[in-house]
Amino acid sequence: MKTNRRTFVVHTLTGAGALSAMSLAGVAHAQPMLAEADAQAAALGYKADATKVDKAKFPKYAAGQLCNNCALYQGKVTDAAAGCPLFAGKQVAGKGWCSAYAKKA
Ligand code: SF4
Repeated sequence: MKTNRRTFVVHTLTGAGALSAMSLAGVAHAQPMLAEADAQAAALGYKADATKVDKAKFPKYAAGQLCNNCALYQGKVTDAAAGCPLFAGKQVAGKGWCSAYAKKA
C-alpha cells in the first residue's frame, strides 16, 4: 500500500516534470531573438551588446547596465537571453541594453 502510493507519486511527479520541461523548452525555442533592426528595438536604441550602445544618442547609458540586471528582464542574471515585456514574443540578450533600462531594485 505504502509502496504503491509512493510509486504513484513518483510517476506523477516525473510525468509533470517532463511535461513542464518540455513546455519550457518549447517556449524558449518558440521565442526568437530580438533583432536590433526591429522598429521598436531601434526606437529604444536596443543593442544585443551593451558596449555598442550609441552613447552620444543615449547619454543615460552607463557601463554595467545590462538587460540581465534590468527590472524588466524576465530571466535570471545568468541567463544568456530572456523575455522582456517591451518586446513581446522575443528574447533580448542578457548582455543587451535599451533606453528603457531600469535598474533592478
Ligand atoms: Fe533590456 Fe530592460 Fe530594455 Fe528590456 S527594458 S530590452 S530588459 S534594458
